[in-house]
Amino acid sequence: MNLKSERRGIHVDQSELLCKKGCGYYGNPAWQGFCSKCWREEYHKARQKQIQEDWELAERLQREEEEAYASSQSTQGAQSLTFSKFEEKKTNEKTRKVTTVKKFFTASSRTGAKKVAQEKIIKQGQLGRERNADNILRDLKEIFTPSWELASPTEAEIQEAKAPSPSINRQVSIETDRVSKEFIEFLKTYHKPGQDIYKQCKLFLDTMNHKKDLSIEEQSECAQDFYQNVAEKLQTRWKVSPEKVEKAMDQIEKFIMTRQYKYVFCPETTDDEKKDLAVQKRIRALHWVTPQMLCVPVNEEIPEVSDMVVKAITDIIEMDSKRVPRDKLACITKCSKHIFNAIKITKNEPASADDFLPTLIYIVLKGNPPRLQSNIQYITRFCNPSRLMTGEDGYYFTNLCCAVAFIEKLDAQSLNLSQEDFDRYMSGQTSPKKQESDSWSPDIKDHCSE
Ligand SMILES: [Zn+2]
Repeated sequence: MNLKSERRGIHVDQSELLCKKGCGYYGNPAWQGFCSKCWREEYHKARQKQIQEDWELAERLQREEEEAYASSQSTQGAQSLTFSKFEEKKTNEKTRKVTTVKKFFTASSRTGAKKVAQEKIIKQGQLGRERNADNILRDLKEIFTPSWELASPTEAEIQEAKAPSPSINRQVSIETDRVSKEFIEFLKTYHKPGQDIYKQCKLFLDTMNHKKDLSIEEQSECAQDFYQNVAEKLQTRWKVSPEKVEKAMDQIEKFIMTRQYKYVFCPETTDDEKKDLAVQKRIRALHWVTPQMLCVPVNEEIPEVSDMVVKAITDIIEMDSKRVPRDKLACITKCSKHIFNAIKITKNEPASADDFLPTLIYIVLKGNPPRLQSNIQYITRFCNPSRLMTGEDGYYFTNLCCAVAFIEKLDAQSLNLSQEDFDRYMSGQTSPKKQESDSWSPDIKDHCSE
């Protein structure tokens, strides 16, 4: 029996975690193996190509129409129309037509939507003042410099204020208010750029509020654009240091996503929920998988190790209770560190990346974290992309995505089982017998290593 090939089922070469374009950032299955940056470039390219094709079609149709018009004019002998006038008319028509075409194709794009949003914001502002909505942000405004006073409540805030709040809603809105207060306190330390950030965030929230009908991918793109624009502006216009930009970006994400969460987490327009249930069912069906089958170098008979395993499971389950993408990421990172510790204590030497992924799979199987796919999707769509592309948060997140992909396709081979045994365990006919060899021993290392 070739144990080498059996183990290969779980092994992931570290290079496979990286963007397939070779830029060096972490890739993600949700972005077809690209990193967030390359994926957006690909996505834009595809969309630009589509727009270009639509334009060409529109222009061809227009040309044909004009030719037909010109020939009908000349056959009718309508010479009153001088050449220059004809040209003028043609230009006017073209401009008008192009504007219409453009408007059609860019209905959801920045410029069009921004204008609509701005108009609506003005209306909303008036509405808000008329309703005199009880709003914490405005209550706080006197502590700020005059330009803050212009800030009006977002539509979401108005709705929040209007909605009767059962205790859960109340709890959430208390938290939202707390986050707002903290955000404002934080921005004060940034002085003028802080005011600018605040205005941009408000504008973004209002714009998003009018984009609820868009697909979640388009909403995600708006958020990513927003992160990118704010960061660029802080750097170039306000000359804020990179460290301070990073700090600000975390606070911005927190403020924005605390508010957006209920609209964009596992939205009804997606099949996120269906996928959640599928993964949950799959994990339940794999309840019989032992650490030995996955070649996980974790001996839970050691109390400290067992403690680390429990903590890792708790962390990954806790991810679902967080509203901010970065807080969810922090749960994954915490979980991963407990895993590394568990391996280190078991092996009495530092864990390798090859030990880590199977152990993460084991922890996910044991914990069956709620709404796993929704959480991954939400992080992918709404986290500040720089967090996912580099650093330890990005590394652990990519590993988690890999772990879920493996769980979806775990088979007899990757578990070092015969097909017959695998099928019997899956069908629930039998479960693997508890054997003495079930507890971890250094032999596993030989049995499972490459
Ligand atoms: Zn890339």
